Amino acid sequence: MPLMEALRSLDRTSYRCWLLLACALFAFSAVGCAVGGGDNDDETADESEQEGSFRLSAVTNDRGDATVSFDLPEGTTKFAVTALLGDDDLFVRFSELVSGTGVDYLSPERESISFADTFSRYVNTASVPSRREDPALTNGERYTASIELEDGVGTPISGETVTFEVISKVDPGLDGGRLRLNVFFVGDVGEEQTTKEVIRAAIPTMRSTYSAQAGLDLDINEFEIDGPVVLPLPVTGDDFYRSAAGVGVSPSVNLFIGGDVDARSAVGEVLGVAGGIPGPPTPTERSGVAVSIFAAAGPDGIFSAEDTRILGETLAHETGHFLGLFHPVDFSGSQVTAADPLDDTAICGFITECISNSELTRNLMFPSPVSDGSGGFIPQNDLTDDQRGVMNRYIVAD
Ligand SMILES: [Zn+2]
Repeated sequence: MPLMEALRSLDRTSYRCWLLLACALFAFSAVGCAVGGGDNDDETADESEQEGSFRLSAVTNDRGDATVSFDLPEGTTKFAVTALLGDDDLFVRFSELVSGTGVDYLSPERESISFADTFSRYVNTASVPSRREDPALTNGERYTASIELEDGVGTPISGETVTFEVISKVDPGLDGGRLRLNVFFVGDVGEEQTTKEVIRAAIPTMRSTYSAQAGLDLDINEFEIDGPVVLPLPVTGDDFYRSAAGVGVSPSVNLFIGGDVDARSAVGEVLGVAGGIPGPPTPTERSGVAVSIFAAAGPDGIFSAEDTRILGETLAHETGHFLGLFHPVDFSGSQVTAADPLDDTAICGFITECISNSELTRNLMFPSPVSDGSGGFIPQNDLTDDQRGVMNRYIVAD
């Protein structure tokens, strides 16, 4: 399930028994984007990079399908296509994303490489190309994107207008650059000075991981906005994120810092949630990562140095989801139930094998922190070359 795969969990009360981790504190996050604004004077921006965007629309047929075809500016190396719905109660997934010469960028060899091919409410986004192994874009190609629309219980919806937003970029280097983040301090808890201080103390952990492991320099803008103490769940979508993301710089990844995150369906307490894998790059109902300060502080309500480091890892981890990364492995109980679509991330067969593999336990995208055996947790800040490749192909990365 998308929600669980976007999850990072941490059980502080039973870290001596890692097998119980699945049930305590959860760390979710989601990222999004913002409209308007624009800081074009950043010296790290490569002037050779050109960003373009346009919108197309199509009406679903009697099978609930809609298709658009489009050309891209010369030199385009990556793009994101987002399907936006006018009706809040409908669900959309991509069913085809193909170049004129037949390259399948959605699910090559029938392998699911993102959640673009999974039904999601309000909006869905695909990143093209997504992985290092996916073929590079070539000039003069025409691309075709098809979606399916349904009501959430499998009934196709016909006669609905779907808007396709395409953002393209001429980014000659898909191995590093700049990543813009909007950090929103939300409501009474988010706007507290102590909250801002702990986030500012946690960000260097994320910044160093992104710089050293992904080649991405973070360009951060901070905002204070009104909002609830308990943030809505971005992976299911909420109008709050669409309007709030519009306040920030666009395109960006949006981190929303609040008291808590409303994830009643999850077991335990939620630290943060990501709005998608990948998330939408413009302001939508799912354009955000939500982070809980209460959960990050733990039961004592005090931020230790390790709490702060883990908060930084959570910001980095959930942003990783938003850029398109899955966990290397996912669990159900002690069983491994899923692996990411990348060749160079480690795999394992069952939980005890997984947590004895330091390639996995040190990876930023491992589903949860792992006990270091002496009362703390192993730092998780490694990324593989393939993970770096996904992050740099996401459209918000320059
Ligand atoms: Zn996760």
